Amino acid sequence: MHPFSISVADDPGRAVAAHAQDDHLSYIAGGTDLLGLMKDGAAFPAHLLDINDLPGLAGVDATPDGGLRIGALARMSDVAANAEVRERFPVIAEGLLFAASGQLRNMASMGGNIMQRTRCSYFRDGDDPACNKRRPGSGCSALDGLNRNHAIFGWSDACVATHPSDVAVALAALEADVVVLGRAGERSIPIADFHRLPGGTPERDTVLGRGELIVAVEVRAQAEGRASHYLKVRDRQSYEFALVSVAAAVETEGRRLRSVRLAMGGVAHKPWRLTAAETALRGADLDDIGALEAAIATSFTDARPLAHNAFKADLSRRAVLRALQTAGARA
Ligand SMILES: Cc1cc2nc3c(=O)[nH]c(=O)nc-3n(C[C@H](O)[C@H](O)[C@H](O)COP(=O)(O)OP(=O)(O)OC[C@H]3O[C@@H](n4cnc5c(N)ncnc54)[C@H](O)[C@@H]3O)c2cc1C
Ligand code: SF4
Repeated sequence: MHPFSISVADDPGRAVAAHAQDDHLSYIAGGTDLLGLMKDGAAFPAHLLDINDLPGLAGVDATPDGGLRIGALARMSDVAANAEVRERFPVIAEGLLFAASGQLRNMASMGGNIMQRTRCSYFRDGDDPACNKRRPGSGCSALDGLNRNHAIFGWSDACVATHPSDVAVALAALEADVVVLGRAGERSIPIADFHRLPGGTPERDTVLGRGELIVAVEVRAQAEGRASHYLKVRDRQSYEFALVSVAAAVETEGRRLRSVRLAMGGVAHKPWRLTAAETALRGADLDDIGALEAAIATSFTDARPLAHNAFKADLSRRAVLRALQTAGARA
């Protein structure tokens, strides 16, 4: 690994100022993604700023409007075990528990989780194959290479990678906000706008600017929260990233769907909302499988599978139906 220095931040404002001034400085929280990238030669920070001692960023607290504020330094395992999260937003707890391993979840922070980089094997390959995310302008080895795990929505010729975070998918379905501290103070970014599609600049995963520090994720109080579910489909039952995943949150009247929120993982460069299906599902009967399938299909008309992942479209439609039924049974 290349040489680097490390220092410990004790004040959020000073951490933001240090990050803003030094292009070669990276924040480090649990280190479970960043250190792997450094070992793989996919990240070369000269300075690491350890943010773990920053005060006030590790809690899970009620907000005045009845929602939750989850600190950026809260550990995945602590958030998954939090009673409020489990009862009011099971989709978040499940998104966390289906991710990584127990040991990793004890180290990994919420901020680091939504900032983690793609698991495209070309991007992580120490032999440095063509990869626009790793080396802008070098090409995309996955476009005509092995792309079974890659995107079916929103990709560009420059990059067909998917975003790997599970909990980001749950947060997308709940329309959470990412609260960010910058030199001008705090701003809230709707999670739908936080991660980017690749376009011609796949090296940029998010809209975060230099210096900005995630301080929290906020979830508003909502009827759909309790009747929610995260379904993850993967090649093995534990310790694996999603082939496809679905976060579903619903509000019902009897067996009819009054409101539906759906987001998917493993299908795009960012958590992917199924807005057409959400509209088409409103008023549908949870027992009318044909109607549910037809409504879900409306979100797949623009799917663009690659050479090795055509199976993802069909798998996704089935996973959405299953997640919807499980969420509906919790209403
Ligand atoms: C073997 C393995 C399996 C895994 N499986 C899964 C899985 O199934 N699902 C899943 O979702 N994840 C999975 N992960 C990823 C894991 O969840 C992430 O590595 C972890 O959440 C990152 O958090 P961290 O605190 O360790 O981040 P770090 O590694 O410390 O940081 C990651 C990035 O975030 C930036 N950062 C950290 N905190 C902040 C902040 N507050 N503000 C701004 N930037 C910040 C850092 O600068 C860095 O760029 C897996 C990881 C491994 C190694
Ligand atoms: S899909 Fe993206 S991350 Fe993977 S090789 Fe292509 S440019 Fe790189």
